[in-house]
Amino acid sequence: KARGQGEHEFYTSAIGLESRQHTRLLHELQQSFGSDALFLAFQPQLSLESGRVTGVEALLRWRRADGSFVPPDQFIPVAERSGIITLLGNWVMRTALGALAQLDHAGFSDIRMAINVSAAQLRDRSYAEQLGLALQESGVAPGLLELEITESVAVMGMARVSALLAEVKALGVEIAIDDFGTGFSSLSYLDQLPVDRLKIDRSFIALLDSCRPGARIAEMIVPLGHCLGIAVLAEGVETECQAERLRAMGCNEAQGYLYARPMPLDALLQWLQTYRTRVA
Ligand code: C2E
Ligand code: MG
Ligand code: MG
Ligand code: MG
Repeated sequence: KARGQGEHEFYTSAIGLESRQHTRLLHELQQSFGSDALFLAFQPQLSLESGRVTGVEALLRWRRADGSFVPPDQFIPVAERSGIITLLGNWVMRTALGALAQLDHAGFSDIRMAINVSAAQLRDRSYAEQLGLALQESGVAPGLLELEITESVAVMGMARVSALLAEVKALGVEIAIDDFGTGFSSLSYLDQLPVDRLKIDRSFIALLDSCRPGARIAEMIVPLGHCLGIAVLAEGVETECQAERLRAMGCNEAQGYLYARPMPLDALLQWLQTYRTRVA
């Protein structure tokens, strides 16, 4: 009994610690909002066939006052639970569209921009409307924007997701399923939803250098996507060997440290210039 109580005390203090850290992080995040502590980094996506850059993914970065970075996997859940993800997501959307306009201005007018959108953001009834407004204000071609959603949106229910994605598609915006293969949802949704691209989760790509069983997953996702008329992109490509195997499978695109790390917009523009002259 004594031990049981000890465990209970440990449990409550662990929760207390977690919520104190949560509160502190949230407070810091709110203070960083609107300053240059929050910015977007962009990672190129390439065609495995032609080697050309087809798109970039916008990834949120948060630099603390002491110069250290908090990984998005740590602060996005905090933003989601507190509700400020709506504000943050809106800023990401508008900033990414601004960057897309700058890419166009610099002569990279056929490069797509992908943004990550969490289920917590999509629950907002006015999401599609806000997206439409932001697109109008930015003046960019809607077909160059892509929303990356994960299978976790399934918690919203098929009817809601389906209606929302129809609204998004009506705007001309593309839809990608991020971290594909790690969710628990049924495959039937793929045939019912207007999905343009599957992003094979990097855990499966990491296995491609070996002959471990999981390596076969990537091999199955490529024809699955193609059978449904959906393009397939591999994320987390780090070695030439992985890229070669993906190319042989007919995987359309790749993204990963092998090509480039996520970088700020000015560095991306320079990288694209250098890359273009090298490929051309
Ligand atoms: P994600 O959307 O699946 O993004 C890919 C993650 O893999 C990024 O981590 C990227 O930096 C990393 N990565 C790219 N290439 C490689 C590689 O070759 N090797 C390895 N080991 N990693 C690679 P990051 O930037 O830390 O983002 C983590 C997650 O945070 C993202 O996963 C996404 O789910 C979320 N996230 C990032 N930005 C946003 C945002 O603006 N909004 C929302 N809602 N979520 C975001
Ligand atoms: Mg993503
Ligand atoms: Mg991913
Ligand atoms: Mg992810």
